[in-house]
Formats: sequence, C-alpha cells, structure tokens
Amino acid sequence: MSVLPKSVEKVIEEFGKLPGVGPKSAARMAYHYIRSSNKDASKLASALSDMEENVRYCKKCFNVTDKEVCDICSSPLRKKNKICVVEEPLDVVAFENSGVYDGLYFVLGGVISPADGIGEEELRFKELEKRVNELLEEVKGNKCIEIIIATNPSLEGEATASYIIDLFAKLAKEKKVNITRLAMGLPTGADLEYADRLTLKRALEGRRGI
Ligand SMILES: [Zn+2]
Repeated sequence: MSVLPKSVEKVIEEFGKLPGVGPKSAARMAYHYIRSSNKDASKLASALSDMEENVRYCKKCFNVTDKEVCDICSSPLRKKNKICVVEEPLDVVAFENSGVYDGLYFVLGGVISPADGIGEEELRFKELEKRVNELLEEVKGNKCIEIIIATNPSLEGEATASYIIDLFAKLAKEKKVNITRLAMGLPTGADLEYADRLTLKRALEGRRGI
C-alpha cells in the first residue's frame, strides 16, 4: 500500500521525467505545489498546456516558435547568405543572446550518435539540404551561401560536422556554398548552450573554412 495519494504519486512521476530531476527532487517539487497558496499548480498547468498548444517548429529552420515561420527567418534584417547549423533550439538562444550573429539558423534536432541509436535518418539533414537550396534560389546564384557548422565540440558533434561536409561537398566544389566550422576556442566536450557571450563571439569570428 502506498503512503501517498495517487494524485501526488502521479505528479512526482511526471516531474521525475524532467532532465536532471531524480525521484527526491521530483517529490520536493510536488510538495512545493501542495504547500503553495496562490494557485501556482493551476498556473503551471495552464502555462504548460498553453505551450503545448501554441509552440511548434518553424517550417524553415526548425527552431521553436509560435508562428509558422519564426521571427528570425522572416526578418528582412537577417543575412540570407549565412546559415548556422546547430544541434538544439537552446543553441539558437545562446547565439542570439551573444548578439554577434546576423544570419539565419538551422536546428538539426541532435547529433549522430550510434550509441544512443541516433542515425542520419533521425536528424533533419534532408530538410537542411532543402533549406540551403531554397536560400541559393533566394540569393539568385550571385552569392555563395556560408554554412557555419556549430555543432558542439564533442565526438558526436564532430561526426555530425563531417556528415554535413560530405552532404554539401558537391555544392562546395561548385563554389555555391562555403562551409565553415566554429573556432575551437570552445573546449572539447563544451556545450554551446552554456558558452558565454565572449567565447561564442570568438568561436564565431575565428571560424575557418573547410
Ligand atoms: Zn525559422
């Protein structure tokens, strides 16, 4: 027989699914909501369902947005001849907070990681090819598109970078795209998401051609 009411157990179970949250923290969070007096639980529940209902992926860059096309992709101020390929939406947030980048993004949705069962098929490489071709159309062939590979400096990030280089080898040979990689001012194993503004600025400014 369980000591806890079913409803509390259910909440603990859900909090326990959050990244980095173990059963004890999950229980602490649940008790926090039991104790709180200003309808915090209802506010959390409605914020979550509002997010679930309204947030989707931008159909061009796959960043999270509440529109069909995100503000970055639809901004006339962003340079259309630069596309920065990142792993996750939070990497876009890191670059945007650093204020050092004025081009477009593309969110792959992860990295190739055979150990976690993530192969090429699980990531958005086809969509990336489509997006680069769209941009080549937009710049009307008189400009080269720079593909900035900004995957994390991990083994998986490097494997993913190599895959992207191969994917665009033909376009690179035809001088339609110029592939660059962030400078490794970033320590190996670092997570772009947590890099500070200056580190990101240096990594971006020091990017080199491949
Ligand atoms: Zn977008």
